[in-house]
Amino acid sequence: MMGSVGHFDVIIVGAGPAGTSCALALKDSKLNILLVDKEEFPRDKICGDAIAGRSIKNLYKYAPELIDEIRSFEMKELISTTRIFINNKKPFNIYWKNESYCIKRYVFDALLLKHAIKSNRTLTVKTNFKVDDVIKEVSKILVGNKKSNNYYSANILVAADGSQSFLAKRLINLKIDHSNFSAAIRAYYSNVDGIMPNQTEIHIYKKHMPGYFWIFPVGNNTANVGFGMLSKDISKRRINLKQSLTQIISQNRQLNRRFHRAKIEGNIEGFGLALGSRKIELYGTNFLLVGDAASLIDPKSGDGISNAIESGIISATTIVNAHKINNFSEEILKNYKIDLDKKIGKELLTSTIILRLGTYLPFVFAIIPILMRRKWLLNFAKRFL
Ligand SMILES: Cc1cc2nc3c(=O)[nH]c(=O)nc-3n(C[C@H](O)[C@H](O)[C@H](O)COP(=O)(O)OP(=O)(O)OC[C@H]3O[C@@H](n4cnc5c(N)ncnc54)[C@H](O)[C@@H]3O)c2cc1C
Repeated sequence: MMGSVGHFDVIIVGAGPAGTSCALALKDSKLNILLVDKEEFPRDKICGDAIAGRSIKNLYKYAPELIDEIRSFEMKELISTTRIFINNKKPFNIYWKNESYCIKRYVFDALLLKHAIKSNRTLTVKTNFKVDDVIKEVSKILVGNKKSNNYYSANILVAADGSQSFLAKRLINLKIDHSNFSAAIRAYYSNVDGIMPNQTEIHIYKKHMPGYFWIFPVGNNTANVGFGMLSKDISKRRINLKQSLTQIISQNRQLNRRFHRAKIEGNIEGFGLALGSRKIELYGTNFLLVGDAASLIDPKSGDGISNAIESGIISATTIVNAHKINNFSEEILKNYKIDLDKKIGKELLTSTIILRLGTYLPFVFAIIPILMRRKWLLNFAKRFL
């Protein structure tokens, strides 16, 4: 028998960037919100730790004091340039216009949660609560933990539970599709030589297309070093990601020299990336999917934090409007998908084209973004997706 059920206007499952951004964007809504996460914070999240300018810009609108805290935080790197090396050739640079950082997710996510709590008086947070049950009723939706027999109901459930989302599996019957899913690993290294201040590095090798090796400095002479590829190719080519990471470092003369004094801090760890090259249902009666749970990671770069934050913020508008008219049906919640498509639809499409072409030609990573600014080419390419 189910224990007593507390009711909220909104339940957000997952306190990563998507879930906390949704809570931040709802700060003036006066809606009663429950945010739950299976972990205690601060908690680690396997990631490259690169927070793109769009994330910082969007968060600044809702929590400027959060960005001030990041600015004054010592262990981070302000990023202005990314150097891209293709097959060890002379790199070309991408210059970032907006304020971007590399900062450990252990820190960043805890700061986000802290500011979401600080700015939203109608927010209740429960950590150490793993959702392993979801029940749809006529006018509400329930989530719970079977073992503790704790259940909560809401008018709207926001699934923000990441790339291997339990809720996406249960609500929209989502299965992992290896053509639209990547796997990546990362480790922290200290004392890597040749790291330039304010610069991240991406190394692309023909052998590992589409995918890349990265070195992202996170401050204090430490770098987040990682490697990721499309899951389909990992299994087809029987690639062992951990071995590949160490092989890339040891077999590449330049990298080998640079890692000569380097020391690995902790373990090499991996996780999946649900890419936005796949279109999935993002809503239904009484629920919305945001962030990785909604498969929104940029397929060409693996940047998922920006779209997680964007989707969390955009979902808040639909949530508020649905409460104004007390209608939580899929017809109303569909507006979230419409708004999100307007904002990031074109960019995801361009990135999907680059991902598909990238399998064959490394240099498309460099030239396609320029070509894709031409509308006729974009429309032509759409036919092949
Ligand atoms: C190796 C790697 C490198 C990456 N590098 C970058 C990068 O440099 N820059 C970038 O922008 N993106 C990067 N990404 C992608 C990025 O990590 C994600 O896109 C981003 O974390 C998505 O945020 P989210 O809030 O949707 O999900 P998450 O950050 O995964 O948060 C989900 C939250 O839900 C909680 N949760 C999960 N299941 C449950 C449950 N059943 N009950 C309760 N709580 C639950 C988790 O504990 C977690 O706190 C990388 C990903 C990987 C794997």
